[in-house]
Amino acid sequence: MTALTIGISGAGIGGAAAAIALRAQGHEVVLFEQAAEFYRIGADINLTPNAVRALDGLGVGEKLRETAARPTYRISRLWDSGEETSRLEMADTAVEKYGAPQLTIHRADLLTALLSSLPADAVRFGKKVECVEELNAGVYIQFTDGSEFRCDALIGADGIHSAIRTSLFGQDSPEFTGIVSYRSVVPSDRLDIPNLDAFTKWWGPVPEMQIVTFPLNRGRDTFIFATTPQDDWHHESWTMAGDPDELREVYRDFHPEARALLAACTDVTKSALYVREPLPAWSRGAVTILGDAAHPMVPFMAQGACMAIEDAVVLGRAMAGVARDGVAQAFLRYEEARKARTAKVQRGSRGNEWLKAGGNADWVYGYDAWTA
Ligand SMILES: Cc1cc2nc3c(=O)[nH]c(=O)nc-3n(C[C@H](O)[C@H](O)[C@H](O)COP(=O)(O)OP(=O)(O)OC[C@H]3O[C@@H](n4cnc5c(N)ncnc54)[C@H](O)[C@@H]3O)c2cc1C
Repeated sequence: MTALTIGISGAGIGGAAAAIALRAQGHEVVLFEQAAEFYRIGADINLTPNAVRALDGLGVGEKLRETAARPTYRISRLWDSGEETSRLEMADTAVEKYGAPQLTIHRADLLTALLSSLPADAVRFGKKVECVEELNAGVYIQFTDGSEFRCDALIGADGIHSAIRTSLFGQDSPEFTGIVSYRSVVPSDRLDIPNLDAFTKWWGPVPEMQIVTFPLNRGRDTFIFATTPQDDWHHESWTMAGDPDELREVYRDFHPEARALLAACTDVTKSALYVREPLPAWSRGAVTILGDAAHPMVPFMAQGACMAIEDAVVLGRAMAGVARDGVAQAFLRYEEARKARTAKVQRGSRGNEWLKAGGNADWVYGYDAWTA
């Protein structure tokens, strides 16, 4: 087989995972990232067993476990009474059942683990992709600095505002959900409440309102993620500061243990949540998309990063032994293997009922991207 030169727009979680998966098939991969460098932005990423098994197969599992926490349970509680409505065993039970545990990790640590598995010259920072054009001689990526790169195939892993998606399917806008999220990280030793080693979801009076907490940085910190309906806040930034008192006011009627979590928050970020409806197609010729570029979702099932990682593994497998004239078919195989599952998770996330009172986690956690 002749190795293909594959370009990837976006060196986020999905793009970096895809680069590892494609290099494992013998292809040359170049990642183009708009950011000049990566800072320690964002906070949590929740990796459920389906994603951890995918990452283990990519060879990054050991690095993840150096900083990740391993939640003991996945607990659901009601916002007012505090009643526990479901409790799933994770940790060793998840390893026995699904072949991998749940891990919670700082986004920057996950990105570092992925990018350090690639040669340094595989990632070109400060290169913002503007559009793509496919000609007989190959796929041509045009950058905003006026330069161009020719490759045999291109993957758009450039997030919810994907330039590649726009190049393929035209301009549209992600839809504001009317929901905002607050995120905060609190040292665990400042909290005197039970179950800090578990993933706990406090279900609110309406589906859009909830508080999720789980351990971060091997349990030294506790991550707090709260959502609520709010129509007049549209900023999508991952770094914009929010007001901790506003956060406490929004959830003032929640159970005392939930309020105790919020009482400890000093720094909060606030971000509006956007979505798109599932797309009918992801690929055109030798160009395809993955992750948030293909299926952005609200975080109520905590599967955004997990779906991007599963995409990357399935895409890598679809490209095994593929030469230039087989790329378009391989991309169609990949999207056919992934569309129904990601659409189901997108819609399930929007509904926000999954595992509220028990229910089946196997269809999400038991998916094996290495055999699917
Ligand atoms: C800065 C940041 C912080 C985040 N923090 C959190 C968090 O704390 N918790 C959480 O659950 N989720 C967070 N997310 C979202 C989460 O990481 C994604 O939903 C998920 O991992 C899907 O990954 P993705 O690779 O498809 O997209 P993304 O993670 O969004 O990655 C897309 C990458 O493409 C790059 N890019 C975009 N446009 C272009 C272009 N035109 N040319 C070249 N490069 C481009 C972006 O800079 C980014 O690095 C964050 C995303 C970002 C970008």
